[in-house]
Amino acid sequence: MRHHGIHHVTVIAGPARRNLDFYTRVLGLRLVKKTVNFDDPATYHFYFGDSIGSPGSILTFFPWEHVAPGQTGTGTTQETAFRVPESALAFWEQRFIEQGVEHGKPEKRFGQSVLPFKDPDGTSLALVGIANVRTDNTWTTGAIPTEHAIQGLEGVTLLVENGEPTGAILTDVFGFREVAREGELVRYKGDAVLCSVVDVRSAGSKLPGRTGGGTVHHIAFRATDDAHQVEMVRKLVETHGLQPTEQKDRNYFRSVYFREPGGILFEIATDGPGFDADETHDNLGDELKLPAFLEARRSEIEGKLPALT
Ligand code: ZN
Repeated sequence: MRHHGIHHVTVIAGPARRNLDFYTRVLGLRLVKKTVNFDDPATYHFYFGDSIGSPGSILTFFPWEHVAPGQTGTGTTQETAFRVPESALAFWEQRFIEQGVEHGKPEKRFGQSVLPFKDPDGTSLALVGIANVRTDNTWTTGAIPTEHAIQGLEGVTLLVENGEPTGAILTDVFGFREVAREGELVRYKGDAVLCSVVDVRSAGSKLPGRTGGGTVHHIAFRATDDAHQVEMVRKLVETHGLQPTEQKDRNYFRSVYFREPGGILFEIATDGPGFDADETHDNLGDELKLPAFLEARRSEIEGKLPALT
């Protein structure tokens, strides 16, 4: 069965050790894969998610020790939101105070309670309270019990000059539909349980953003399999005049990339093979995993990566 939603969101971070600590200890996500950026193997690529790394639970990072901070503006992702049980928002507000996490006041958006916060690199994040949330693959830690734990991603807010062409890609290619409007925001929704909300904000001629620390590098939408991905690529080329890259093997999924009309880098990632392709479920994230073509350079790569402890 096809699920329309986001597969993962990838963000640029500062120091690797601080990034790992924030997402695993402070937010209580599972490190489901510790690998390197396949195109830049001296940089880690961390994947955080639920207990099995479900599509839609995955937030990934390229941590650069001396990254220059980025700037939100048009052509960038303004915010990335997680799902938590509605009843857990008070717990999180308290936890953010205790852990010194920069956060805002709870607010209402499209009728939902939202708690905005930032990671140590200034990445704009939020927790969205969901009623009757499913807790199938919850990852729990001592400090964050199941009833409060993050339940994957909820969605993203995109900031573009004019949202119409971006919305057309979401509805025509990715199977989302427009469900609501609030001010300059248009909400699009896919049918997947996890990470199926995209809010598009048409900002007019605001300043363009700049990629760097604390900004989203790209957003990957789900394709069920290669055939589904081929279908999406055909629509992008024939209906929208876009030129996606050829397919790249990312070990845990297979990807194509393109820049959407608003300037944001989009990816289409297959649901499979998944994060248990090279580790058992019990051992996800335990060891540094390298793709076969980098295995011969393991000791050189390990020597260049920053210390994590
Ligand atoms: Zn990606």
